[in-house]
Amino acid sequence: MLSVTYLCSYLYCPRKLYLNLVLGLQEKVKDVTIKGKIRHGAYELASRREKEVIVGLDSKKRYEEFEMDFRRMYNKVLMWLISQNKKEVDSVGLKTLDLYKELWPLFVIECRERSLEVFEFAQKNSVFGEDLWFKLPKGIPELYVKSDKLGLKGRVDNVEVDGDNFIPIEFKTGRAPEDGAWKNHMVQVGAYMLLLSEHYGKEINYGYVDYKEKDRIKVVMNPFLKDEIFELRDKVNALLEGKDLPPKLENKKCDSCGLKDECFNR
Ligand code: SF4
Repeated sequence: MLSVTYLCSYLYCPRKLYLNLVLGLQEKVKDVTIKGKIRHGAYELASRREKEVIVGLDSKKRYEEFEMDFRRMYNKVLMWLISQNKKEVDSVGLKTLDLYKELWPLFVIECRERSLEVFEFAQKNSVFGEDLWFKLPKGIPELYVKSDKLGLKGRVDNVEVDGDNFIPIEFKTGRAPEDGAWKNHMVQVGAYMLLLSEHYGKEINYGYVDYKEKDRIKVVMNPFLKDEIFELRDKVNALLEGKDLPPKLENKKCDSCGLKDECFNR
């Protein structure tokens, strides 16, 4: 069963995927990987801890105070995660303070949006404290899904639950392209739609990519995207079973590739 991320890696460079998975060559960790790991980790941890903030909302609390409660919690989580990953952060030449300054604005936006969503729900339904927590629609962070039928598996960054609809969300540290989402991200979210459709036994036909600074891009399933996902899955399977190293790309992707020396020496 293939990981959905292999489809994205194939789109980036089939040769690199072969070097990784068949020949076992590993690229050095990059700063963008560390940033992504901390962003994902902070989001997941904060989602688990938000209960303590939400049950603290009573009918007298002002919105500004409630938002500050969220900010305090997210801030603690982010600082803790950066300190826990300090060795890796240092190893890619990042400074912990710079990393904090880069990531914190993303969480400020997240705090504002989440606190406003919860506050408005509480006011509209007149529910507070523990009651509010039980009645609030919730997301499912880091949901692992797999399907023998599809031959795919993966971990969705977050699944938003809206009534009986389940919406996959992927968080990305880079910026969105001028129009829509990057191709590999469309494939990734599309594959999660298919996996979630199997998992919940109902059709799921859209999801989102959340880019840095909260550009949220909608990805809608269509027959072309579905075919492309299955074609990619079959190509990756053939690549992993084959004995031939795919050709070099020899384009600008190679300039920043961590396996360039190993690749060009073959
Ligand atoms: S150097 Fe270029 S062709 Fe080689 S693995 Fe990296 S991206 Fe692919």
